[in-house]
Order: sequence, then C-alpha cells, then structure tokens
Amino acid sequence: MSDHLDHLRARPNRATTPELQFVAPGVWALRNIFVNLFFVRQTPNAGPWVLVDAGLPGAAGRIRRAAESLFGPGARPEAILMTHGHFDHAGALETLAAHWDVPVYAHPLELPYLTGRSAYPPPDPTVGGGAMAWLSGLYPKHPYDVGSRAQALPADGTVPELPDWRWIFTPGHTPGHVAFFRESDGVLLAGDAFVTTQQESALAVWEQRQEVHGPPKYFTCDWDAARRSVERLARLQPRVAATGHGIAMRGQALLQELTELAQHFQERAVPARGRYLPDPAIADETGVRAVPPPVHNPRTPWLLGGLAATVGLGIGIWLQQRDTVRKRRRRYRRHSPHHLDQPATGYAADIDPFTPVDEPGGWFPGPQNL
Ligand SMILES: [Zn+2]
Ligand SMILES: [Zn+2]
Repeated sequence: MSDHLDHLRARPNRATTPELQFVAPGVWALRNIFVNLFFVRQTPNAGPWVLVDAGLPGAAGRIRRAAESLFGPGARPEAILMTHGHFDHAGALETLAAHWDVPVYAHPLELPYLTGRSAYPPPDPTVGGGAMAWLSGLYPKHPYDVGSRAQALPADGTVPELPDWRWIFTPGHTPGHVAFFRESDGVLLAGDAFVTTQQESALAVWEQRQEVHGPPKYFTCDWDAARRSVERLARLQPRVAATGHGIAMRGQALLQELTELAQHFQERAVPARGRYLPDPAIADETGVRAVPPPVHNPRTPWLLGGLAATVGLGIGIWLQQRDTVRKRRRRYRRHSPHHLDQPATGYAADIDPFTPVDEPGGWFPGPQNL
C-alpha cells in the first residue's frame, strides 16, 4: 500500500486533478467516472470546436454542461469525432448527436457499431488483471445507431473541422479504432490504443494511477494489430497523450513509457491467455464476421466477489459525483455564464500539474479569449 501512496504523491491522480482538465491549448478532457472525452477547439482560444468521444450512457447532460462552461451558454460543436464506439465512449452519443444535430465521424471499419449494423466481438473476461476485466462480460456491447449522421472520416487523413489535426488508423482494440494527432505541438488523443492507467484493475481505475499501459485487455480483439498501432503512435513521439482512460501524460515520462510499451508490447500489454489469442476476431466494413470460441474462465469463483466490490465502488463514485455535480451547479449559478474565468472556481488551482510556469495567464483561456 505504501508503494501506492508514494506513486500517488509523485504523479497526478483522481484526488489531485479536476474532472474537467486543460490538456493543451484548445484541448480539454472531461473525466466521466472512469472514461475520458475531449473538447477540441479549431484554434486554441477561439472558433468552432468538436467533441471527441461521448462518454458513458447517461452522461449527455453532464457533457453539455461542461461544454457550456468552456464555450458559453448553448454551446454546440460542429461535429462529434469517435476514436471507437465502445459503450463507455459512445454511451451518450445518440442523445448528443440528436440534441446538437451534428455529424458523427468515425473510421469506415468502426461505422457498423455506430449505425446499428453489428455488435462488437464479445469482451474477454479471461484476460485477467482485475475486477474491471472480470466483469467485462456484463458490459453493454450492443451497437449504437446514429443513422445518417454517421460519416466516414476522410480517406486522406484530414480531420473534419480541425485542419491542424490528422487521424491515425490504430486498429486492434477495435477494428476501426483511430487516434487524433496535432503535429505542431505533438498532442495525441489516443483513444484506447494505449491508456494511461491500468484499466483492468478497479483499484488503479479508482485512483487513476498514472502510467502507460496497453489497450484495455478485455475489449481488445486483435493483439497483432494492437501492437502495430502502439508502435505507430510511439513513432510519432507525442509530447502530450490524452487517452480514453487515465490522466493525460506529457514529457519524458510519457515518451519513455510509451517507447518501452512499444518495445516490450508482448510482455507488457498482451495477456498470457485469452479468447483473442492466438487468433483475432475478423471484421470488415459490415461488422464482425468471425470470432474465436469462448475459453474457460478460471476466475469464475471470484466473479461474485468482484461484482460486489465493483457495485460498492460504483455506488461510492456515483455518490461522490452527485455531490460534485451539486456543488458545481451552485458554482455555475454564482459565476454563470463563463465561470471558468473565475479563479474562485478552484479549477485554476487544481490544474497545477499541467500548468507551465512560463505561460502568462496559465492554461485556461482568460476572459479576453472567450
Ligand atoms: Zn474501448
Ligand atoms: Zn475505453
């Protein structure tokens, strides 16, 4: 336990980072219990913006409120970009896309899961690593359906509404997974191609223990492709990586851990056994075509214990979130409409781990920039 405490003291964690966090100029992360989604502005201080990923089911109101706190009342994106369509990244997608009436962009190989045509390959609880993995058989895996709002990302690698960004094909975790990269300052939104917490472990997820890990094992359905994707992202030498799970990382720690992950992917990221080893799920632009047969789960006796622990954890998180939301609503009322301009909200103080000392005015946009 003291190792954990040392680690938590040394790196940002759930207790020391706000739920809505500045990542890089024009990029903010919102932590939705255990998954992240992102607000990305076309230019750092002004202009249109897009949402990247759409959080857990039921998160639409919270996402809209966060958007309004950043961009003002009634804020509406130009589009929603999807790294992939797992339930924790697309849970509020249908509601938000309909409410804002905006297009939803994803890779052509990911569209079947966003247009109701195919369910994902089944999750694999046999990969081990903790309660989040053991319970993965219970996670929703039905496709979402945003109908004709779903559109394929441009084949030339450009990103709609974000001229400074490129999308990078990073399959493996899902068949059509993509990351988004801004080359000018090395900012990477990696989705679940790799993540910055040990997503299989409920304890690590609760703490948001910050370290580079491979894609969440229980959902990854092609490990060869996942390895090549991590190698591709490591070659980009990102300076900031904000991933689907965990707190954004930057600088030397990021580069070193990502490089090591790419070099030792087999030992660090690939489970010793699992349904998608050695053979992957097979998918195409119509969805899943074939999956390997299920394997025996030696951890079944632990499942009920894990379930009880996780339900308890979930209730704890929910109660804390409810409390936070109530406090935040009170703050919104005090500082509306642009409460983030007000240092009294506490965000500016909380942002410390990502605040460069030489940046006049800090990372948050000042009133003059909104
Ligand atoms: Zn995922
Ligand atoms: Zn995820």
